[in-house]
Amino acid sequence: MKLLVTGGAGFIGSHFVRSVLSLAMSSQLSEYPRVSSVTVLDTLTYAGNLANLRTVEDHPLLRFVHGDIRDVQLVEALLPGHDAVVHCAAESHVDRSIAAGGDFVSTNVLGTQTLLEAAVRTGITTFLHVSTDEVYGSIVTGSWSEEQPLAPSSPYSASKAASDMLALAYHRTHGLDVRITRCSNNYGPHQHPEKLIPRFLTSLLLGGTVPLYGDGHQVRDWLHVEDHCRALWLVLQGGRPGEIYHIGGGTELTNRQLTQRLLDACGVDWDRVEHVPDRKGHDVRYSLDWSKLRRELGFRPLYLFKEGLNETIAWYRDNPAWWEPFAGVRT
Ligand code: NAD
Repeated sequence: MKLLVTGGAGFIGSHFVRSVLSLAMSSQLSEYPRVSSVTVLDTLTYAGNLANLRTVEDHPLLRFVHGDIRDVQLVEALLPGHDAVVHCAAESHVDRSIAAGGDFVSTNVLGTQTLLEAAVRTGITTFLHVSTDEVYGSIVTGSWSEEQPLAPSSPYSASKAASDMLALAYHRTHGLDVRITRCSNNYGPHQHPEKLIPRFLTSLLLGGTVPLYGDGHQVRDWLHVEDHCRALWLVLQGGRPGEIYHIGGGTELTNRQLTQRLLDACGVDWDRVEHVPDRKGHDVRYSLDWSKLRRELGFRPLYLFKEGLNETIAWYRDNPAWWEPFAGVRT
């Protein structure tokens, strides 16, 4: 199988690439089609980082293409010969979308449409579109099924919802084998320090304070990035065309509870927490019902949150050279 991974120098895309390349070399997974090449297409925005691919940069099956998913000519020239597109490229940070939404519409909507169009024209077999629980808006109790209507709150989530609708439209109109995944909040090594866990961790490691939005009672479900990537692989292998699959981690925490865990891990107190005005349009709670993925494809997260978080904290502690250049980059 020849894969094209967009956004493969970002947080999730690079984890996916590294894990697929290790699968490609593993004889234990012979029931799966062999991955015979992985092309990464990434324009290296502030969030893209070639250091995320350093451990595999000389891998014989990897090819990196520095380019933009909105570049029609490039995309149409690049896609032929690939069997599947794993579409991770996006503008991904809600706060940035609140400050200025243009890049979000341009990359997430137009960029996705450019890829879908090229996938139809060039006969790509499968298009795996990586999306988010944020497309549903907010839920006080219970969990969303895959049939829940979309009601996004932020320019980021609205642009992702639009890209999901386009992906489904290309399936219905053109018969393209599109599969959509919507996952909860990811955490793990290599995540840009603008996102909550690495932002708090890196600030605490530098001896600074952390900004907690509003009362900190927003609830998020946390999914280790490696579990997410395993689920993407399962959907790529065994998912059905035109279907949506939820991917959850099974650990719901308020932001206050999460903050407490990070403070404890760094051995500091609440005097290191700065209470800041709430984010505009802040969703109170996200919650996915991911029983379909468990039932159909046998998924379950392997990481216990405590272990995953400790491992993540250790990674940031041990790799300041990776994150210090971005530590001052705040929205
Ligand atoms: P990220 O911001 O870490 O990485 C995005 C990557 O896309 C970067 O490498 C960037 O350079 C690249 N990119 C951006 N615009 C591009 C363009 N126009 N052309 C080519 N490359 C471009 O994001 P992430 O956290 O790895 O998220 C990956 C996907 O997963 C996104 O679609 C996001 O919406 C989704 N998602 C993320 C989370 C999470 O918690 N991180 C949760 C749910 C869904």
